[in-house]
Amino acid sequence: MVKISVALEAINTRIAKAASKVGRQPTEILLLAASKTNPASQIREAWLAGQTIFGENYLQEALEKILALSDLPIEWHFIGPIQSNKTKRIAENFAWVHSVDRKKIAERLSRDRPESLPPLQICLQVNVSGENTKSGVAPECAADLANYVAQLPRLKLRGLMAVPELTTTVALQRSQFHMLRNIYDQLKKNGLGIDTLSMGMSEDLDIAIAEGATIVRIGTAIFGPRRYPIPENWGEELVVRATQQ
Ligand SMILES: *Cc1c(COP(=O)(O)O)cnc(C)c1O
Repeated sequence: MVKISVALEAINTRIAKAASKVGRQPTEILLLAASKTNPASQIREAWLAGQTIFGENYLQEALEKILALSDLPIEWHFIGPIQSNKTKRIAENFAWVHSVDRKKIAERLSRDRPESLPPLQICLQVNVSGENTKSGVAPECAADLANYVAQLPRLKLRGLMAVPELTTTVALQRSQFHMLRNIYDQLKKNGLGIDTLSMGMSEDLDIAIAEGATIVRIGTAIFGPRRYPIPENWGEELVVRATQQ
């Protein structure tokens, strides 16, 4: 397997090239390392190679790693589906949440965010593919949710996130990123002070950057193939079981 430091360097080069191709500065784009299923030792290796932002999908798995790496000032982002009984520990342990898709979850994160911590940075996940298995607020409901989240205490609305449909058609993929960008531009026009478009993964980061991504979330291209499969909407209980096997 490729060393993590080498993989990170390659990804940063890919980001810089994709940015300059469309006249953007590489510094406008943050790299989030999506570390689900990869052990704390791999995250530490990535940290030592200069990576500071990590994203996790499953709370139990994340909390174990956050504890194991508490000697490092890592910025932890939660990027997975959120069950409402998990909001307290998410609000206590993460700097960002990318996957807020309903008022109830936002309201609970706001209530549960400790006063001693800075505001929790929030992106709304939008279902741009329209697949009904996917998490995310429907595009036509995004503005209402954004206005609601923007006025909640202890939360700071930063922008939008999407996980487009897996497709080999570049045009279709691009149209989904473009849809997120359009919603984002509309919200800004309506006066929301947002600055973040979280979109683009290992396979499609170049298209996402062309469409305006400010955070790309990269897993496989940094850590290699995942340690165990993550089907859509896999419950974290199953992940814990898989880890224990
Ligand atoms: C796993 C994951 C990623 C990273 O995907 P790769 O294809 O491995 O780069 C990005 N975003 C979310 C929400 C994920 O769950």
